Amino acid sequence: MITIVWLRQDLRTADNPALSAAVKLGEVLPVYILDDATPPPYRPPGAASRWWLHHSLAALEQRLGGLHLLRGDPRRLLPELARRTGATGVTWNRCYEPGAIARDSAVKADLKLQGIEAQSFNAALLNEPWEIVTGSGDPYKVFTPYWRTCLKRPMTPPQPAPKIKLAKATHGGAALRDLGLLPSRPNWAKGWEAQWRPGEAGAAQRLDAFLAEGLAGYATRRDRPDLPHSSRLSAHLHWGEISPRQILARMARAVDETPSLQTDADKLSSEIGWREFAHHLLYHFPHLPEHNLRKEFDAYPWQNDPRLLKAWQRGATGYPMVDAGLRELWATGVMHNRVRMIAASFLIKHLRVDWRLGEAWFWDTLVDADLANNVAGWQWVAGSGADAAPYFRVFNPMSQGQKFDPDGAYVRRWCPELAKLPTDHLHAPFLAPPLVLRAAGVTLGVTYPHPVVDHLAAREAALQGYQAVKAAG
Ligand code: FAD
Repeated sequence: MITIVWLRQDLRTADNPALSAAVKLGEVLPVYILDDATPPPYRPPGAASRWWLHHSLAALEQRLGGLHLLRGDPRRLLPELARRTGATGVTWNRCYEPGAIARDSAVKADLKLQGIEAQSFNAALLNEPWEIVTGSGDPYKVFTPYWRTCLKRPMTPPQPAPKIKLAKATHGGAALRDLGLLPSRPNWAKGWEAQWRPGEAGAAQRLDAFLAEGLAGYATRRDRPDLPHSSRLSAHLHWGEISPRQILARMARAVDETPSLQTDADKLSSEIGWREFAHHLLYHFPHLPEHNLRKEFDAYPWQNDPRLLKAWQRGATGYPMVDAGLRELWATGVMHNRVRMIAASFLIKHLRVDWRLGEAWFWDTLVDADLANNVAGWQWVAGSGADAAPYFRVFNPMSQGQKFDPDGAYVRRWCPELAKLPTDHLHAPFLAPPLVLRAAGVTLGVTYPHPVVDHLAAREAALQGYQAVKAAG
């Protein structure tokens, strides 16, 4: 008996319930379908995610000993593949994006009509989004009580990788390179292979390295982009190369060995909790990617100046902490969490560009682009989301830089043209005396941009715009 395992954001062999269920039934036909066919609200991966996906699929193909690759509409391709190969069932692990839920429900119904068994499982989350509800049965909109409820529930232990017998038909699909996932002309991902190791083995290696070198001090230093104290597991988690259960179980062992890690481990668990919360929100409020959760924010008078958006995208706003973040993003496919908050706040509040345009840029340029986390992050910064930062708290990019990059190492790395500026002036070069600028080889408007907006005037305009939101509330 052959069972198709439809892999999507679960590109691993261990702790993969859909794969384990298929193995129990007999031969397995693992398939990945590059779905560029399902219409919106389904969102195909952005460009940087595709780079990651290519390498993750290559790693999985090697680990499984084969992977059937297809491109097109899963609604058509899965029943066709089942008919062609004699497969009697299809298993998959659930995705929680509204477009994916609609597609998967349609696929399930079509398969059933054709007498093909379809079964789905949870591999991506500690809890299903519908399992955690308030006392009155509503979804949570505030993180702390949500996470408190989650912590009371027992965790299913992660499962080891099963012994797999591949069906012969596994080897008949498209070649990976023909999916066209890698950039060419220009290849903007040059050097990424040296920084990242997509795939299950790379994820496990990253977790081990983080537990050995980064976890101690995570709770107090995770906000510092100049220090190596965050896990860099987000893309591995998004593509399901590692499960949250595996991370928590492995971290619990580390705490057993070194009890002083407990506080840091609790902090990391709660960050994974934010990931769970974002998926909970997206499931219960499926319009989150397009619409403000708090309706009164629809009244905000966005300016949406394309020139300012471009300056932000290129890391040329004249505010070093913002520019460093956007350049880190372009060069590596990620941006440190604290800097994501500063850069997003700057776009929304200082430049008054709609958060949806920033979200779209992140979607295309992040290797960890994740609809739930990205949209929740942007709406949190905008103040329009659940448990969000208050709109009137406008981050000052200069003092944020001084606080979270106190020695300037992060800005010097990503804005090397400012490297010789003394730390006192690094986060606001436009306020530095001409002699200091000259001595550091900085010519504003030539080697580094003038600020695209004046901080205080922009802050005032942002708060003015907020009056419209207050009036609509
Ligand atoms: P760590 O600090 O090591 O955290 C461990 C894991 O917890 C992360 O890998 C991630 O899965 C989860 N996590 C941590 N912080 C958050 C958070 N605030 N919200 C949800 N999950 C979190 N994260 C994404 O994975 N994809 C996105 O597209 C994304 N877009 C964002 C956009 C904005 C505007 C903001 C403010 C945040 C966004 N985040 C996103 C959340 C966060 O910035 C990243 O998860 C984090 O920077 C990844 O680095 P790390 O793995 O080293 O994190």
